[in-house]
Amino acid sequence: LKDHYDVIIIGSGGAGLTAAIQAHELGLSPVILEKMDKLGGNTTRASSGMNAAETSVQLDHKIVDSFEEFYNETYVGGGKQNNTELLKFFTEHGALAIDWLAQHDIKLDDITITGGMKTMRTHRPSTLAPIGGYLVTELLKWIAKDEIPLFDNIKVTDLLLEDGHIAGVKADAANEVQIKAPSVILATGGFGAGKDLLAKYRSDLLNLRTTNQPGATGDGLKLAEKVGAKLVDMDQVQVHPTVQQDTPHAFLIGEAVRGEGAILVNNAGQRFVNELDTRKNVTKAIDDLGGTGAYLILDRDIRNRVKAIEFYDHVGLVTTGQTIAELAAEINVNADKLEQTISKWNQAVKNHNDTDFGRTTGMERDISDGPFYAIHIAPAVHYTMGGVAINHQTQVLNEAGKAIAGLFAAGEVVGGLHGNNRIGGNSIAETVVFGRQAGQQVFKYLS
Ligand code: ADP
Repeated sequence: LKDHYDVIIIGSGGAGLTAAIQAHELGLSPVILEKMDKLGGNTTRASSGMNAAETSVQLDHKIVDSFEEFYNETYVGGGKQNNTELLKFFTEHGALAIDWLAQHDIKLDDITITGGMKTMRTHRPSTLAPIGGYLVTELLKWIAKDEIPLFDNIKVTDLLLEDGHIAGVKADAANEVQIKAPSVILATGGFGAGKDLLAKYRSDLLNLRTTNQPGATGDGLKLAEKVGAKLVDMDQVQVHPTVQQDTPHAFLIGEAVRGEGAILVNNAGQRFVNELDTRKNVTKAIDDLGGTGAYLILDRDIRNRVKAIEFYDHVGLVTTGQTIAELAAEINVNADKLEQTISKWNQAVKNHNDTDFGRTTGMERDISDGPFYAIHIAPAVHYTMGGVAINHQTQVLNEAGKAIAGLFAAGEVVGGLHGNNRIGGNSIAETVVFGRQAGQQVFKYLS
């Protein structure tokens, strides 16, 4: 660890790694500091993919999309509370980010869909491996190749200011250290595992479990607030509808399972919601069942489209039945009812018309190819939409809306982009889009 760098990047998730590579490629000397002994943050847990519109990958799949539709669907999904300046930049730079990744041999050639969208724009690796682990592994290869210094087990505890400009950080390593730099990028993620901040902003969610890694405690928000940054939308916390939590670990069962064709049923074996409505609406529908959760139901064909299910099965989260009746018995649901529900659903898929709940996506395949599978799920705290206020140059803003000189932020630590509900696939996208932007804007600031 040197005592001086051009830019200190706090956090080794998608936003931090992307920002570091971008800054390095522009000739700066960055350092990445990570407080945990595990790299990659919540990014490693992301399962669905990366949303972007007007990409060449979409055209390869004969999907014609537009920035405007991407903007509108994200805006409607976010309750029209999104920061429109950030949303515009975000939706118009996803395709460039997909290309940038491809130039770095990170190929997201396959495409799927998540809740709240009408168009397939969720890009993922063609191996169908979960996006997060893949992205972090591949970005870390570039960090190594570029010889960008990265230290784990170093927790940043303060930002240093001199005459209103960022001048470095204080951090806890083995001892307390001071590292000087004229710029800092906050890439510290959210506060889904931060009980104190949840207690302050959303005490109603304190009893829920979380899908987040234990380091997601909102440090970046506290660091930024201490130097005068404005925080926005702090009470907007996303609860993910489909989390398996019957074991000590809460496993998020990604939207791709529904995107590829799974349905949700209640204890009576009946559907109760458009499974690909927004996370907010699906969560509410499951909550309204009275606290028992629900079951994702799928067949072998759907399972084969989502690599992660092999893993879920391996750790014991999946119930299997050779027939629908056998599956129903395993999960204690009335067999006739479940058979009726599935046969009605298969008819809806065939006619592409879900008369019960108006689902229009994730209807490429029916549920007819045994064995059949069920996964018990319930909602859990997943993502914090609130965070530090930035402009589209990723400059952190103070209460008066003025940039704090030298302080930048990207990724989940930022507030405003998602309004009151984040669409699946937009968080990986925001780490790459705004991570790149932060690297570029730091370069401009220092030039
Ligand atoms: P994003 O998706 O926005 O990149 P992630 O959750 O993937 O966010 O990554 C954020 C990373 O920042 C995590 O690995 C987290 O442990 C790390 N981090 C959070 N607070 C600090 C801190 N005070 N010092 C160093 N690293 C931190």
